[in-house]
Amino acid sequence: MIKQRILIVFGTRPEAIKLFPVVQTLADMPEMEVRTCVTAQHRGLLDQVLDIAGIVPDHDLDIMEPNQGLDRLTARLLTGVGSILDGEQYDRVIVQGDTATAMTGALAAYYRKIPVAHVEAGLRSGDIYHPWPEEVNRRMIAPIADLHFAPTEIAANALRNEGISRGVHVTGNTVIDALHATMARIAEQPDLASALDPVRARIGDRRVVLVTTHRRENFGDGMNQIATAIGRIAEREDVVVVFPMHPNPGVVSVMDRMLGDRGNVLRIDPLDYPSFIGALSLAHIVLTDSGGVQEEAPALGKPVLVMRETTERPEGVIAGTARLVGAQTEQIVAGVNELLDRPEAYLTMSRAHNPFGDGKSAARIADIIADAAVTSH
Ligand code: UDP
Repeated sequence: MIKQRILIVFGTRPEAIKLFPVVQTLADMPEMEVRTCVTAQHRGLLDQVLDIAGIVPDHDLDIMEPNQGLDRLTARLLTGVGSILDGEQYDRVIVQGDTATAMTGALAAYYRKIPVAHVEAGLRSGDIYHPWPEEVNRRMIAPIADLHFAPTEIAANALRNEGISRGVHVTGNTVIDALHATMARIAEQPDLASALDPVRARIGDRRVVLVTTHRRENFGDGMNQIATAIGRIAEREDVVVVFPMHPNPGVVSVMDRMLGDRGNVLRIDPLDYPSFIGALSLAHIVLTDSGGVQEEAPALGKPVLVMRETTERPEGVIAGTARLVGAQTEQIVAGVNELLDRPEAYLTMSRAHNPFGDGKSAARIADIIADAAVTSH
């Protein structure tokens, strides 16, 4: 049997979470020879996921440097992935999402005329500066890839509107596969989520507002407004804010300065993935500017207030599981208070249908990749 040799390239925590189901599914197929290349664009957060997913990368470019500008990061990623592709023969490269790693991975493959599959294709905000630089990263991958795994019909249509119709497949989002697999593992092995135990002990009978924020577009004024909103929400005695903080100084320094030590704001280090899923399960409301969290929370019936002006995931808003509140104190506080004080508003959001997938996306993606190889031979 001629095996298809595939290089899967990723560099950040969300890419690792969304790709581990694909890595595992492809690796189980006898006709595939799968190699992984991590760029380690986010070293610490990435390694947590690799450990849990049991992935030992075949190549580790270890590209992270403090205060590295986008020019230098992009140049180093491109030459790094390029040198791996020059070292061995590959039939296909797989990238995910909209990071600098994904964009440069696709470009390095294109320069060598190696076909590229793009997981989570077709997300668009329509504004190249929101999110920046992700909107342009993902747009640049579209004309290069020959297989586009769109999580939803809306994403597939966005690609068609850009003139890309061949190779577009609606697969659902692999984040739901990762979520299901991880929940099943936690059920068998509760210790996996034990980083949450100290938090759980401090919650009591208060309702949990789970907060994450890390988006560059919110650095500066947006982060100040978010911090003020958290402070206001935490004035309520029936609420505890659980806030795993992204290590970026654009987040940590503002929160240190504006929130200090407050009894009902539990600011903690980023949680490992199973513990974060545990935190999502405990949450009453989720307040986030994260992409992945917007997709996970509805699958667990948790209303999401999105602290952004726009989202490339309108499906959540359309389905009624998510609402945009911007990075503005008044709107954030009003959104949270409404959900805390109006049970019918809460139920409407928490019962809405999760539009992001059924947990079988990785199997669909693997089958399509296998078929594409057969057709091209
Ligand atoms: N996540 C995690 N630990 C945390 C916060 C988030 O494992 O403390 C996970 C979360 O489950 C989701 C992913 O990280 O799958 C989202 O990553 P992030 O918000 O950094 O990036 P985005 O999804 O916005 O690209």
